[in-house]
Amino acid sequence: MNLTIQKFSIIMVFTLVSILLSVFFYSYTTQRNKTATVIINSLHSNISETSYLLSKRISSKDKVKNTRPFLDRITAHNDFIAAILIHDGNTILLSTDPHYGKILPSHHLKQNAHEPFKHISNAISIEHDISFYNSNKHVTLYLQYILDKEEVANYFSKRESFFVFYFILLPFIIVLLSWMIIKYFVIRPLETLRQFAYYQNNIPKAFLLRELETIRYSMVQTFERLESEKKELYHNTRTDSLSGLANRNSLDEYLQRLILDAKRNKKEFAFLFLDLDHFKSINDSLGHNVGDDLLKKISSRVSAMLRPNDFIARVGGDEFIIILQEYNSIVDLSNVTQRILKQLSQIWVIQTNPITITASVGIALYPKDGEDLVTLMKHSDIAMYEAKKTGRAKYHFFTAELNDSVQETIQLTKDIKDALLNKEYELYYQPKVATNSSKIIGVEALIRWISPTKGIIPPDLFIPICEENNFILELGDWILEDAIKQQAKFKKENINVIMSINISSKQILAPNFVKTLTNLLYVYDVSPEEIDLEITEYMFLQQTDKNKNILNELHILGVSISLDDFGTGYSSLSYLKDFHIDYLKIDKSFLDDYNTKKGAIFLETIVTMGQTLGIKIIAEGVEEFEQLQYIQDIGCDQYQGYFFSKPLTSSEFEKLYFKSIST
Ligand code: C2E
Ligand code: CA
Ligand code: CA
Repeated sequence: MNLTIQKFSIIMVFTLVSILLSVFFYSYTTQRNKTATVIINSLHSNISETSYLLSKRISSKDKVKNTRPFLDRITAHNDFIAAILIHDGNTILLSTDPHYGKILPSHHLKQNAHEPFKHISNAISIEHDISFYNSNKHVTLYLQYILDKEEVANYFSKRESFFVFYFILLPFIIVLLSWMIIKYFVIRPLETLRQFAYYQNNIPKAFLLRELETIRYSMVQTFERLESEKKELYHNTRTDSLSGLANRNSLDEYLQRLILDAKRNKKEFAFLFLDLDHFKSINDSLGHNVGDDLLKKISSRVSAMLRPNDFIARVGGDEFIIILQEYNSIVDLSNVTQRILKQLSQIWVIQTNPITITASVGIALYPKDGEDLVTLMKHSDIAMYEAKKTGRAKYHFFTAELNDSVQETIQLTKDIKDALLNKEYELYYQPKVATNSSKIIGVEALIRWISPTKGIIPPDLFIPICEENNFILELGDWILEDAIKQQAKFKKENINVIMSINISSKQILAPNFVKTLTNLLYVYDVSPEEIDLEITEYMFLQQTDKNKNILNELHILGVSISLDDFGTGYSSLSYLKDFHIDYLKIDKSFLDDYNTKKGAIFLETIVTMGQTLGIKIIAEGVEEFEQLQYIQDIGCDQYQGYFFSKPLTSSEFEKLYFKSIST
């Protein structure tokens, strides 16, 4: 049977109530019978005494009437007697109540009845004979008390309600109270314990009953211990005991989660296989103790170098896997790897032994070089062997092309920086021409790298790298100053043009850009109206207040703003009405298509839009006369392009300028 405390308590209470009720019933009936016996006995003694007294008083039947006052008194004094009759067996001689004029059938009250209460309830009257001698003749009359049934019943029912109160209501209240107490102190705590055992979430508060409290306390303790053991076990199965780093299990789990995340967010990450070079020889020559200590030190040093999102695991004797997520470019990734290798190659002092060691790293990229642990492991391992082959203490990417291009970029980055120190950069100037008058009204400064070894290098080959590694900030400052310096020179030589300078988004958003510009204009005595800044749509990828403020400040300063490469960006056109822009430069690619239907529609739409918004339109990359004619027709304000002139050195430009105004 599925017995709960609740059921058990209900059964117990029920049994208790039944026992109580039977006890009550038994005592109630015996009590009732006792009372009935007392009443019967008292009525009997009363009637026998009365009949004795009457027998003394009555001497003849006629005298019976004289006893009426005496009998009335008895009726009045005894509640249970309704009336008293005296009859001779046939006729009534006297009745204290005229209602009772007939002799009632016998149902006389007897003494020693088996069930006194039932007997008194059924009996109607009680009778006794009166004997006397009338002139020596024995006469027998009968004295009959008519019982007042209502009074008798009343008497018992009064006692009954008293019993009900004390024997039923009180026990009921007591039982109810005890039920509530059991429920509060036992059933509820037990239920709480059950819940706690099942879910182990909120720890129950201390109980009042000592036994239950002991159980609760030991349960809490046990669960806490189990929890910490579970944690420890979890930790142990995922930790490399020697280094304290994550182990292979942990790497497995981590990578599964990371791959899910990277897949969802289309992210890349780098999987580095790091293997110490010639570690075995350290173990062999200095002992395993020293080897272990070295591994510990290396582990903690490398993991201290990593960022919170990175991950490191020790997967073999001297093999580590490092996962890097936060790098801006492959070059940045190589820099981090290079830093790790540099840290390792310092001199380690292990138990007074100075040790030098190097490591080789193989790098595989998710998802390009592998989309699961096994492939990433295999490919980074192959790359690591490649690093060992090429002389150890190196890193190597899995694909040869990437490896070569990274090495190239790293070299190029260095050369780009050196070029500024070596003054290898030069600005070239390409004229901007008014479409209707064919007059040169501006120039665009375009940077060239004149390398003594490689010749003239176009900006497309180095500007993107500079933007990636932030060198554009330094180079941009140089460009800004050199262009403004040149503008001052042009002015002195009476060359009246507006100088357009290309400014990268990073540069314009850098702190102090407006201040730097203002300063340079002051130093070289150039007025802001002579300067135009060419920016790209990248600036509007985030339409923040900061961007808006900078453009506003520049507008207030008085320089004009051109939006370069218009139509190639990704942003919405809404910025055109929110930001102050003076010129739109239509990208060369659209001009190339001027003679197709689509290209023409595009060009004409831009011109119309510009006219509506009060923005001037400049066509870039005009190479042919037909193109010039076309843009003249549709109403472009200015143009640039090989048709008029390629970018020129400053002196070449000066010559061209004077030649153009003389004709
Ligand atoms: P951009 O600002 O759109 O410059 C226009 C590019 O088109 C220039 O290339 C120019 O020489 C070229 N070009 C002009 N007319 C014609 C033509 O008729 N036909 C053809 N095929 N090309 C023409 P460049 O000088 O190689 O510059 C390339 C890009 O490098 C520039 O595009 C600009 O984004 C960037 N750049 C150049 N100089 C600077 C600079 O000083 N600072 C910054 N931040 N970026 C620069
Ligand atoms: Ca430009
Ligand atoms: Ca352009």
